[in-house]
Amino acid sequence: SGKALDVEALEVHFPVRKGLFRRVVGHVKAVDGVSLQVPAGQTLALVGESGCGKTTAGKALLQLVPASGGRARYGGQELLELSPREWQPLRRELQMIFQDPFSSLNPRMRVGEILEEGMLALGVEPDAGARSARIDALLARVGLDPAMRDRFPHEFSGGQRQRIAIARALAVSPSLIVCDEPTSALDVSVQAQILNLLRELQAEYGLSYLFITHNLAVVDYLAHHVAVMYLGRIVERGRAEEVLGNPRHPYTRMLLAAVPRLDAASRTTDGLTRGDMPSPLNPPPGCHFHPRCSEAAERCRTDYPEERWISETRVVRCHLVN
Ligand code: SF4
Repeated sequence: SGKALDVEALEVHFPVRKGLFRRVVGHVKAVDGVSLQVPAGQTLALVGESGCGKTTAGKALLQLVPASGGRARYGGQELLELSPREWQPLRRELQMIFQDPFSSLNPRMRVGEILEEGMLALGVEPDAGARSARIDALLARVGLDPAMRDRFPHEFSGGQRQRIAIARALAVSPSLIVCDEPTSALDVSVQAQILNLLRELQAEYGLSYLFITHNLAVVDYLAHHVAVMYLGRIVERGRAEEVLGNPRHPYTRMLLAAVPRLDAASRTTDGLTRGDMPSPLNPPPGCHFHPRCSEAAERCRTDYPEERWISETRVVRCHLVN
């Protein structure tokens, strides 16, 4: 543990194909110049609505989809330039937990085998007895009875399956975990348990999390830093308490105003989200957010705002914020 992830101008473009011969007729910029940092041992929440490119960004950092450009330094290494052989040790260090614990676990493998598979592939714990003891310890650590290691995934609830997925990631001693909406498929009460577990594990192992979510309550609960993403680009980033406490970008403000408040008195109607996110196939010109922005000015329709540092710790992309 103890390495920072520093991403600069990450690009992921997908070809758009049409017709009988599947000719490439254009490209979608699913991730369009994303910069962010995950400090060692801390959590950066990458926040946005579905389709904004946040999952694609996370996958590109782990080489699960090819990046089209940019840099991603982890410790001293440039992740996006590594050959498959150079990437091998990083497969241990960088793990991912997916949203759907139902489809991310092989239904034909027993839980013990699921945990063992990654260890074998990556050369962790070559001794069979030590490996078996490690599986028991991992299952107990994530709150499961080690005696259940011979069962299959379908015998577990959604929350238990996510615990198995977390144990599988931990089995290879990662230092950074990309968590892709790990609780959004779960009941609210189970969500809180899984978030607590992730927080405890972070403190215990010094883990860094790139936490992908659309849920600002989750961000408030566990993020140290936040990056808000809209149509492939980061529109605001900074320390979590700054961004949530004093959001500066109109999109961040819209997201926050749409979070249900406990005290009904502070509920406003003008903050509810306006319209839907346009298709990334055909993003609006100028500021991508202008069709939904209540503060849009004339130049917002034509000029895309650059990232601007508005303090030592915060970056905002908006013509009206400086
Ligand atoms: Fe709104 Fe203009 Fe700022 Fe975009 S640049 S968020 S349209 S005010």
